[in-house]
Amino acid sequence: MPALLVTHPPDVRYLTGFTGSNAALVVLAGQRASARLFTDGRYTAQARAEVQGATVRIAPKSAMAEACAYAAGRAGACGFDRNHTTVASLAAMRSAARKAGAGRGFFKPLDGAVAALREVKDASEIDTMRRAAALTCDLYEGLLGWIEAGMRERDVAAELEHRARLLGAEGMSFETIVASGERGSQPHARATDAVIQRGDLLTLDFGIVLDGYCSDMTRTVAFGFEGGPVPRKLQARWGEQRAIFDAVLAAQQAAVAAVRPGVTCGAVDDAARSLLTAAGWSKFFSHSTGHGVGIEIHEAPRVAKGQAHPLRPGEVITIEPGVYVPGRCGVRIEDTVLVTAGGIEVLTPVHKGWLEL
Ligand code: ZN
Ligand code: ZN
Repeated sequence: MPALLVTHPPDVRYLTGFTGSNAALVVLAGQRASARLFTDGRYTAQARAEVQGATVRIAPKSAMAEACAYAAGRAGACGFDRNHTTVASLAAMRSAARKAGAGRGFFKPLDGAVAALREVKDASEIDTMRRAAALTCDLYEGLLGWIEAGMRERDVAAELEHRARLLGAEGMSFETIVASGERGSQPHARATDAVIQRGDLLTLDFGIVLDGYCSDMTRTVAFGFEGGPVPRKLQARWGEQRAIFDAVLAAQQAAVAAVRPGVTCGAVDDAARSLLTAAGWSKFFSHSTGHGVGIEIHEAPRVAKGQAHPLRPGEVITIEPGVYVPGRCGVRIEDTVLVTAGGIEVLTPVHKGWLEL
């Protein structure tokens, strides 16, 4: 492909360092390969400070239209990412390119060309992700000493996010999930006014953004009876929760143990899923085992059933099986791991076994 138009902000950031919200990057291939970033007047100073490896053009009108005209004047065809281009954008792109003399079929849809480059992280990206994950572990451990039965889920989310900011996070990498009791059966439960009760499990799934990179970790903890006996009416529920927890932990550990270069994402998913099937819980495991993480919280590769993608050193993925029993409870345990030449480095090595608060 002689030219590539990149407009998805995380892709633009990856290629040039630019973090503004409006950018169209044209990359030209060939002997005199070059890159030119088009943005608008709000970002004049920011683009000058951030952009590396591309020339910058501040477009007086539409950055996108100028980028398309520029590409049309210099290449016979131009790829674009169909996963991040709306129907309306494509119409505007075609119109701008046609005015600059491009023929029909100038724009060629591609399936995530930059997304594929982003799968393998370089040394500096890995260093940033290690620091983001370490801060995430510190936050979690600090919170364990503070959190108590009787608090609302939203108290926990607010405290966690406040501490994250104070410790240097740019923000959260997604909306913090705090799910207690039967609400744990919703994998993406938002923090509500629900009060954490003794006898409940609590699922905490959160991540921060540090220097543009996301972290992601889930732990499930139990609110026990402070060493006293389990009340008779809660005994069956307490026992079931423990059985589910043990099954999810075993599945999570098996999937982590399966990670090494050359192993497919499908095989990692199967390592978790087959154990949950054997334990009788797989019908309540309603999502895939994990996902790539980096500039975006969810990026390639997908760690899901049947995925043929072989893991490579430098890829950072999550391993997060869960079991969600409607109306009863839920358990998820998630680590972020780095694939290394020798196997694996767990970036979130904080305690994940059964823990009663
Ligand atoms: Zn997560
Ligand atoms: Zn995740």
